[in-house]
Amino acid sequence: MTHQLEALGDWRRTHTCGELTLAAAGTTATLMGWVHRTRDHGGVLFIDLRDRYGATQVVFHPETVGPLLLDAASRLGNEFVIAVRGVVNARPADAVNPAMVTGAIEMDVHEFRLLSACDPLPFQVNEEYTLASEDLRLKYRYLDLRRPELSRVLALRHKAAMTARAFLSGESFLEIETPILVKATPEGARDYVVPSRVHHGRFYALPQSPQLYKQTLMIAGCDRYFQLARCLRDEDLRADRQPEHTQIDLEMSFATEDDVFGTVEGLFRSLWKECLGIEIATPFPRMTYDESMRTYGTDKPDVRFGLELRDVTTTCARSPRNVVANGAKAEGGIAVAITIPGGAGTSGTQLRKYEDVVKAAGAGGLTFFKILPGDREKQQVIFPGALLDEFLATCGAKEGDAVVFTNGPWERTCKALGVLRSQLGQAELEKRGLLGVTPEKQDWRFLWVRQFPLFEWSADQKRWEPKHHMFTMPNPEHLEYLETDPGRVYAQLYDLVLNGNELGSGSVRIHRPDIQERVMKVIGLTHEQAYEKFGFLLDAYRFASPPHAGIGMGLDRIIMLMAGRDSIRDVIAFPRTASATNLMDGSPSTLEDEQLKELGIRFQ
Ligand code: ASP
Repeated sequence: MTHQLEALGDWRRTHTCGELTLAAAGTTATLMGWVHRTRDHGGVLFIDLRDRYGATQVVFHPETVGPLLLDAASRLGNEFVIAVRGVVNARPADAVNPAMVTGAIEMDVHEFRLLSACDPLPFQVNEEYTLASEDLRLKYRYLDLRRPELSRVLALRHKAAMTARAFLSGESFLEIETPILVKATPEGARDYVVPSRVHHGRFYALPQSPQLYKQTLMIAGCDRYFQLARCLRDEDLRADRQPEHTQIDLEMSFATEDDVFGTVEGLFRSLWKECLGIEIATPFPRMTYDESMRTYGTDKPDVRFGLELRDVTTTCARSPRNVVANGAKAEGGIAVAITIPGGAGTSGTQLRKYEDVVKAAGAGGLTFFKILPGDREKQQVIFPGALLDEFLATCGAKEGDAVVFTNGPWERTCKALGVLRSQLGQAELEKRGLLGVTPEKQDWRFLWVRQFPLFEWSADQKRWEPKHHMFTMPNPEHLEYLETDPGRVYAQLYDLVLNGNELGSGSVRIHRPDIQERVMKVIGLTHEQAYEKFGFLLDAYRFASPPHAGIGMGLDRIIMLMAGRDSIRDVIAFPRTASATNLMDGSPSTLEDEQLKELGIRFQ
């Protein structure tokens, strides 16, 4: 006979399942939770009872509960919800589990109530690494979130949010909510739109970021603003993107880049200390965009490993071999090399694979040297006489190493070699034991990358586009090139990078309407179009804006790194798939005809 479902009645839980220790031995307690696992040891039933706080071993002895209750308990399936009442006992010495907070005790159950039964499970909750497909886990997200490893992540996320709020509030920032229904400004990513019922044919957009509003708040005199802001972007999703994400968004008046950096460094010091118990060193190192591209071939370098790009342009330009010299000699050209320590043993097949990597990333080819005495003669065909030693010295290469190098237009070439550097770096990280490790063992390398170009040329659109967004202040000394040579304009724009991940982006903003209009013109917006889109901000500027600066940082990615997870979906309670559907609630879904009519929407 299955036990009958019972109501809570007058039972109240006295403790959570993660709480009881030896100090409670001999007392009576009432616990409630989910049946995590059951074991039958010769007629004695052991259940690990689980809730968000942990698990407690509860024991059903036939002589204590009697045969009827024991029989009912033995029929409990995994994930049934029960309440148990009994006496807390010290476990026998050989049964103590030091890995668990509750590992020194167990409960001798006297009574229990079955509060809720569970259908057959689509996957087991009690496996740390479930083999279930991700789609199945997303459909039954509430079961997935019961898994201790994910529920721990939600708790960490909460703690991080609270820490960020407390820190920023302590620095005089005000948390201010900006609207969720905003004006559509089809710049950057595509907007999610919401039809207006009252004004047929008109639409709201969901905010891609609070950018315009937070700048308006500075003009309103709020001085320091922050928000844990939801941002929605209807982009074609890449593997680890979500259409809705949360930003720690902040803006400060009368502030420079240094002020933003100082605030953010304090914020991360406090996050790492409070949430992970780790002291991180501040200030974070800084590097310009050009330096980062030339040294690492990326604007978000992982500096936990070396393998820096070496500039060998002047040496290569003097090589008698055209393939090596021409790209280096050309206007805006560069030759760059990576030295692979101990790489002389790398097989030819492997080296050709490296070449495929850089070619796929946009480089023309890859030359490789093994630094072995027998190979010197061959290499002198490319670098005759002392040129070879000059080349090896620049590369910092010694016997037993390998050097790979390429040449061409500087940005593209550095980027291509940067892709290879990242791949080679994975092996370095593995060697150092830094892949998939707990936060205490991780090497946390924060970095500011600053001074980005303001624009980038869009070959598709055949026009200049803002590298970050159009509200970024150009360097004052570059203002004169705005109209004549936009590619030469660098800006007070910065990214926060951690171990090869971009955590956030921000800038010193334009606070003068005349400069704002000039920047808009460069990207092809007429005065009328600019007013149509951002009229309220441009108008507000006329009433005196303080100089201001800010940043938006991706909370999801921050939590992912703090929790040592590989996927951003693991740190979002209800994430979407790559096609922006939610497998649990089934959205997006269709509307009733009546609703469509009310909204004035008809499909052709
Ligand atoms: N609004 C920007 C973004 O979402 C962040 C910023 O510049 O503050 O990327």
